Amino acid sequence: MPLHDLEKYRLMAPGPVPMSEKVQKALALPMIHHRTPEFDEILKQALEGLKWIFQTEQPVLILPTTGSGGMEAALVNTLSQGDEILCVVSGKFGERWKTMADIYGVKTEVFNVPWGESLDLTKFENQLKQKPYKAVLTQVSETSTATLNPIEQMSQLIKRTQTSALFMVDAISAIGCTPLPMDQWGLDVVVAGSQKAFALPTGLSFVALSKKAWAANSTAKLPRFYLDLKLELEANKRGETHFSSQVLIIRALNAALQDFRSSGLETMIRDVEKRANATRKAALALGLKIFSESPSPSVTAVRLPDGLKGAELRSLIEQKYKVTLMGGQDHMKGKILRFGHMGAITPDDVLASIEALALGLREMGVEMPDKTIVAALSVAREALS
Ligand SMILES: *Cc1c(COP(=O)(O)O)cnc(C)c1O
Repeated sequence: MPLHDLEKYRLMAPGPVPMSEKVQKALALPMIHHRTPEFDEILKQALEGLKWIFQTEQPVLILPTTGSGGMEAALVNTLSQGDEILCVVSGKFGERWKTMADIYGVKTEVFNVPWGESLDLTKFENQLKQKPYKAVLTQVSETSTATLNPIEQMSQLIKRTQTSALFMVDAISAIGCTPLPMDQWGLDVVVAGSQKAFALPTGLSFVALSKKAWAANSTAKLPRFYLDLKLELEANKRGETHFSSQVLIIRALNAALQDFRSSGLETMIRDVEKRANATRKAALALGLKIFSESPSPSVTAVRLPDGLKGAELRSLIEQKYKVTLMGGQDHMKGKILRFGHMGAITPDDVLASIEALALGLREMGVEMPDKTIVAALSVAREALS
């Protein structure tokens, strides 16, 4: 021990994530102006590629903001002050979206899902029957708890019980990680972000609206200036972005999308799922538990043994074994460690991160015989193959 190279730095967070060499090269190209035929072509291709990955016929817009800006754009472009909406809150990002809506004077009701638990569809249906909502908001994958929500079933229930509600999903850690066909599942607003499965630098958000959401846009009265989707759409129709384009990241996005398209969406999703599966199996083999009842493919939260100082373990793994993992937030601080599965991660990265976890635990006084580690790694290797 160690069986893997633990001198090499490995970024295993659920965003930002490692970037492919092709993307890094694209990012290193010289700056060009965004009002040039060369960039026009790049933008056109990138916008087409986004429609492909969102699985939609509707335009997908590129916003010069992180994912949270995309979440804000979703609200301010479709809602008015006083609208009643239902926010599914199953972790930090659900709380964030509700907070944003509160700040804009939207009337929010919360459908609370305790952290890490599966969303109860019967309870959800009962909530939907209470009254008509203007919108229902949820995360697809709640990254803070590593939990996947049952979006297809939720969408069906909304269609059955609500006549006009828009179903808005934060798919920031879901697109490219789990099936999410926007048009087929009847999703009205879908938000993604560049530093998750797109494996790009942080700084872009991608937002798509259904026809129904665009119709809502024409009467939505919340104030907006920088994140005005209608103006962005009109600019795209002229072959431009509304404000100065982030040439470097959009050029890299185009390169990344070409790669995703040549390997296929199914392959991309399967790779993420394999890493998640390998990590979960290895954690169980190490004697640990998985925090979430409905684990997300994009991130795994491993529950740490009771009483163990999780924050110390996290920094030990980073300092000594050069693997960056994320801890828990709020009441889960120090109690879970989160492993990201998105981006240009190799099977060796997955195995090294598991070994680093095991060695870190051993160093913190948890009994961890060599043969247990070897067994966990072999289970993981099999799941990755
Ligand atoms: C990362 C993430 C966000 C926040 O995105 P930022 O780019 O940090 O603004 C929101 N929702 C989910 C589910 C995420 O994973």
